[in-house]
Amino acid sequence: MLNIALFGPPGAGKGTQSEFLITRYSLYYISTGDILRKEIAEKTKLGLEAQSIIASGGLVSDEIIVQIIEKTITEHPDVKGFLFDGFPRTYIQAYILEGLMLKLNTSLTRLISLNVPEEESVKRLVSRGETSGRPDDTELVIRTRLKEYNEKTLPVLQFYKERGIYSEVDGTGSIGEVTEQITEIIRNELSKRLLNIVLFGYPGSGRGSQGKALAKRFDLEYVAAGAMLEQEVEHNTDTGKRIREFYEKGLLVPDEIVVQLMEKKIACSKNVKGFIFKGFPRTLVQSYILDGLLKKHDSSISMIIEIEVPTLELISRLDERSRTDRRVPYDSSTAKLVKRLQEHELKTVPVIEKYKQQHTVIKINGMGTFDEVLERIASEIDIAFKHMR
Ligand code: AMP
Repeated sequence: MLNIALFGPPGAGKGTQSEFLITRYSLYYISTGDILRKEIAEKTKLGLEAQSIIASGGLVSDEIIVQIIEKTITEHPDVKGFLFDGFPRTYIQAYILEGLMLKLNTSLTRLISLNVPEEESVKRLVSRGETSGRPDDTELVIRTRLKEYNEKTLPVLQFYKERGIYSEVDGTGSIGEVTEQITEIIRNELSKRLLNIVLFGYPGSGRGSQGKALAKRFDLEYVAAGAMLEQEVEHNTDTGKRIREFYEKGLLVPDEIVVQLMEKKIACSKNVKGFIFKGFPRTLVQSYILDGLLKKHDSSISMIIEIEVPTLELISRLDERSRTDRRVPYDSSTAKLVKRLQEHELKTVPVIEKYKQQHTVIKINGMGTFDEVLERIASEIDIAFKHMR
């Protein structure tokens, strides 16, 4: 997830900048001030409690804030990220946010502080007060709000400096200039994100050779379920012995075996830019598991590619492969090969169908030379890389 908190004194432009950021990065916007004003308008118990404090320019209690924040965050667990405006405003709230993010297996990506001198804040808010209708946009209340900001909110910066996720921008420029500074910070954060590609295609479509070449070109970790299983077989481990039985019958290896190996692989891969998964997920169950495994690392699938090759071409390629040392166990007889193709049809095709509902599955024409296909896929990855950043 991409979770950003905009920080700064009242009038720094947090609300204005938020409008652009939520659309640009598909973030869920949480402004505690807006939520409180809505509670006041609806005359809820919480709103009534907060009303006079807000009108006087004071800070609403952490107890009230934690309630509204927890409710809003937990009601939207599946968003791409949150944009916080006006929160956290106290040290306690910083701890609260940390805990709530942890519960979602994520964390605050950056706190971005918009620096604006006090007199500029006052000038902006007095001017806003002429049209906003907000009772706290009058000079007297604005001064109290700034006093609260200096005393209670500014110290929060230390919390984020210590965690190395604090950035500041000059908030006095034009709206566009400030936006540019903020997007630069976010761009930098996004460049640290994992790029996770799932490569689909029937056996014989070239997923393996293309996957390896792509991993090399984009500096990604190539994760091939089949190769990992074979390694177990080769080393004749206990798992390997179990796997061999399934192979010989031309069946898919059960999910629990594959998943354990996958979990280990992802956990052991440190400092990687991302993964290319080949041969995983192969079943619907595995697809849910992959989502979970990546989420544990605050990551998700970035793109899905399906290499398409006509069936007759697949059979001809697999037949050819069976006569080389690139052969895999199911290449050894036509019956096994057909069974393997059927397994794909029955179990893996539904996975692709499921993904189509949540992601765009990019179809690649797998016919032509190896390099032609490689270039087709690589240009799609280039686009995804740019889009992600
Ligand atoms: P804002 O719209 O962010 O300027 O907030 C308006 C007012 O709502 C503030 O002056 C506070 O009284 C109250 N408020 C908003 N967010 C918080 C918060 N995180 N903690 C305490 N009070 C808040």
